[in-house]
Amino acid sequence: ARRNVLITGCSSGIGLALAVKMAKDEQKRFKVYATMRNLAKKQPLEEAAGHRLGKTLEIKQLDVCDEQSIKTCVNSIPDRRIDVLVSNAGMGLIGPIECQTIEEMKTVMDTNFFGLVRLLKEILPDMKRRKSGHIVIISSVMGIQGILFNDVYAASKFAVEGFCESLAIQALKFKLQLSLIEPGPVVTEFERKVFEDGMKMDLSAADEETAEMFTNIYLKNYKQIFQSLGQSAEDVAEIILAENPPFRHQTNTLYTPMTTLKYADPNGDLPIDIFYKMVFQHDKIFSASLNFIKLLRWRSRKSFDLGKPSQ
Ligand code: NAD
Repeated sequence: ARRNVLITGCSSGIGLALAVKMAKDEQKRFKVYATMRNLAKKQPLEEAAGHRLGKTLEIKQLDVCDEQSIKTCVNSIPDRRIDVLVSNAGMGLIGPIECQTIEEMKTVMDTNFFGLVRLLKEILPDMKRRKSGHIVIISSVMGIQGILFNDVYAASKFAVEGFCESLAIQALKFKLQLSLIEPGPVVTEFERKVFEDGMKMDLSAADEETAEMFTNIYLKNYKQIFQSLGQSAEDVAEIILAENPPFRHQTNTLYTPMTTLKYADPNGDLPIDIFYKMVFQHDKIFSASLNFIKLLRWRSRKSFDLGKPSQ
């Protein structure tokens, strides 16, 4: 039987790419409920889905910040049966914390962290009852490692990771699978929006040195990072589908050397020291490192799984 897949945040980026890829699956293993907060933005998804629309792909409204909208969406699915949940909706926030309001920060936590919690409060009980289900969470490499000027975004993804790590133990008892997908930079609307907001940011609340650091180091290198390391949303979707993801799965092999630094030093000083040196001491090392990272590719591919019911 076809597996019902519910994906959040499908008006763009990874959500859109994954929804379309699953709907176009040659073996027709999936029925995709591609959801988005604002249905007025459905045209790109409709166009990408083509004749699969209304067959293997249906579009539904779902705002991860609104419990009622989640409930209404889940109730509209036959028998409320969701075999695969992909928690993808998310947003970024960059800049010095002095220049961000607590409200802006709360919106990031509300979307990236509580968005997942709300989904699971509605969907997990059904999965537990059936003793089957796969929960795929689009986290980030920033769910395991903080990056300069991404303080609150990284905190929201760390929250996601801690939450899932706790839940995964219980889930195992109910034969449910949890997979944290940790992309590095992906070239999507996300990257464009975050950069534009950064450029527009009112930096008057920050001291000169911090404002200068944000504008002349962080924003100046931002595009280059995405250009040299960025994956496409389709690449990420392909990896999610093509591999049997372990609990934590990084999609970007060019970025893995950075996260490996974290595990190389249990005291935690090594990655901070290296990031510091890259950013502040050797501007040239920064670009050299990007090139070096490109050389270090390693992969550990496993066989496919989302199409199979979990046992
Ligand atoms: P994107 O901006 O194209 O997609 C995010 C989607 O989430 C958008 O369609 C947006 O409308 C939706 N969304 C935001 N708030 C929502 C809400 N309250 N309810 C429902 N939908 C909502 O960017 P993307 O890169 O495809 O992001 C998808 C996921 O990947 C996010 O969780 C993001 O944190 C994560 N991620 C992105 C990158 C990157 O570099 N782009 C890297 C690592 C992880």
